[in-house]
Amino acid sequence: MSSWWAAIHGYRHPVLDAALHAQVDRFAHVMFGGLTHAPAVELAELLTGITGFDRVFFADSGSVAVEVALKMCVQATGVPRVLTVRGGYHGDTAGAMSVTDPDGMHGLFRGHVVEQVFVSKPPSERHDGDLDEVRAALTRPLACVIVEPIVQGAGGMRWYDPTWLAELVGLARAAGVLVVFDEIATGFGRTGQLWGMDHAHVRPDVMCVGKALTGGTMTLGAVLTTDELGERIGGAFMHGPTFMANPLACAVARASVELLLDQDWRGTVGRISQELYDGLAPAADLPGVAEVRVMGAIGVIELEQDCDMSVLQPRLVAEGAWVRPFGRLVYTMPPYVCTTEDIAVITGAMVRALA
Ligand SMILES: *Cc1c(COP(=O)(O)O)cnc(C)c1O
Repeated sequence: MSSWWAAIHGYRHPVLDAALHAQVDRFAHVMFGGLTHAPAVELAELLTGITGFDRVFFADSGSVAVEVALKMCVQATGVPRVLTVRGGYHGDTAGAMSVTDPDGMHGLFRGHVVEQVFVSKPPSERHDGDLDEVRAALTRPLACVIVEPIVQGAGGMRWYDPTWLAELVGLARAAGVLVVFDEIATGFGRTGQLWGMDHAHVRPDVMCVGKALTGGTMTLGAVLTTDELGERIGGAFMHGPTFMANPLACAVARASVELLLDQDWRGTVGRISQELYDGLAPAADLPGVAEVRVMGAIGVIELEQDCDMSVLQPRLVAEGAWVRPFGRLVYTMPPYVCTTEDIAVITGAMVRALA
């Protein structure tokens, strides 16, 4: 599970541990309001360098990064409402929940969670008129549209057609609506491209990263944007967390991103993808299995009905793999350090436990 898809370099990686030790010997934390420090500057330069964005806001977690992204768009436009798609997941804080699939937690928090504008899930295959709903929604006053590029993660581990995303961005731009990409699950090579958006050759106005940003060692999110949006926000952006740009998190994030970029991650993710495909394919013939699908280093067995975790998980562990199914999904997002043998253990455990 890579600890919820974050520990891309596995556990106790010596480079990450060394970066943390080195930073703790310098200083562990200092406030980031009106002050700056090398770990944050170096990470900001690295992230803007590899994404082409101009500005970075360091948030405490993925959910907070989403809050920050939405607030940036609201502060810049003065418009409160946000457009999104069904089937998404953007985090557990109130703003992030408001753009997460309404069939999930919304019922429990009705009245507390703001009502946003939802359109249907992005289609896995294109059909005529599959952007009509978006077109109609974009006629309303909106601060932004937010989506996970290509892969909807916790909302169902499903992927959709990149041309749909490209057209969504085109329509939003034409309507003068800002575009936010949540790359918290899809970033750092997970889908086979560095970013999910690379599949569609489009760029947003704001992008959120998190999870694998620190290689799964510490909590950190980052929100990247353009000078143009920065100017529109004007003076001070109204968000200032106490532990903003925590130096330990920034130092280990820089080490993790450099470690990723210094290796043939594309080759590794491609190999893992093939091995997941080969290893999971036999599950397609099992009774109760609806679909087996693989994208990048994401392998999914979707069942026809919700699984019984209390039965399934101990069997997976007995087969040698810690996998955490949810609902109808038995899936893996393994660390990139996995060898061919490691992947065989994981896929073998999934297929045998289900059988
Ligand atoms: C995990 C996740 C979040 C929330 O990140 P946290 O660090 O858990 O707050 C937001 N968006 C997506 C796409 C995620 O996968």
